Amino acid sequence: MKVLITGASGGIGRAAAEYFLKKGHEVHGLDIREADEDLLKFSESAECCGAYYHHIADVTDKDSIRSGLPEGFLPEVLINCAGIQEGERDIDVNLKGMINVTEMLAVSNEEIKSVVNIGSASGHTGSEFPEYAASKGGVIAYTKNVALRIAPRAICNSIDPGGVTTELNRVVMDDPVLWNRIMELTPLKRWASAEEIAEWIYFVGVTNRFMTGQNLLIDGGEAGRAEFVWPE
Ligand code: NAD
Repeated sequence: MKVLITGASGGIGRAAAEYFLKKGHEVHGLDIREADEDLLKFSESAECCGAYYHHIADVTDKDSIRSGLPEGFLPEVLINCAGIQEGERDIDVNLKGMINVTEMLAVSNEEIKSVVNIGSASGHTGSEFPEYAASKGGVIAYTKNVALRIAPRAICNSIDPGGVTTELNRVVMDDPVLWNRIMELTPLKRWASAEEIAEWIYFVGVTNRFMTGQNLLIDGGEAGRAEFVWPE
């Protein structure tokens, strides 16, 4: 299938691109950055059963998306991974950018079969920075909105990870004190790898054909961590 992955030069998007390539798909990565060198090497290796094409574009800018992709390009599977965790611009990139890409390339696309949006546990718990939490809460609602509009020809779901060991989190991963505090809050005592999240993306986006409008929280139990208070 023809798959478009935004944010394909970063942790989760890059891992998803490699996973889809292993499965033999035609993968189109879209990112403001150049393609990841290791991904390009992988795409030329014997392990790769598909083909990789990289497109430079900014998801916040509709003209940039239009001019960055080949004319008339329409994917069968859309994976929205582009995202930031910076503060003020989080809603522009994580939510409005996702809406730009999805409205242009999925909603009025007769070929589309599946959309997977990458949200965050933050959209469920409200934790993390305000604009980031708001952007990810928006992803949960927008996923349901798209699912209603593209049915019955296609499905739309979101994957909402807790901590994932990508560059986005280098600042806490490299600090043993902060890392120990995070692990105390995480029942499974580890974060997910980007490769693990890529497997979820594939399962929800390709293997799954009947679940739509759902938001899967994949966080090692962190959000559900509750203490039972009761007399001894
Ligand atoms: P990352 O920083 O490793 O990768 C993000 C990619 O998005 C980068 O390649 C970046 O260049 C690209 N990007 C940023 N702004 C863009 C724009 N305007 N247009 C096009 N591309 C743009 O981050 P990641 O950890 O792989 O995160 C991917 C997604 O997963 C994000 O939406 C993030 O919020 C979400 N997420 C990450 C974690 C985590 O712990 N890493 C947890 C929950 C959700």
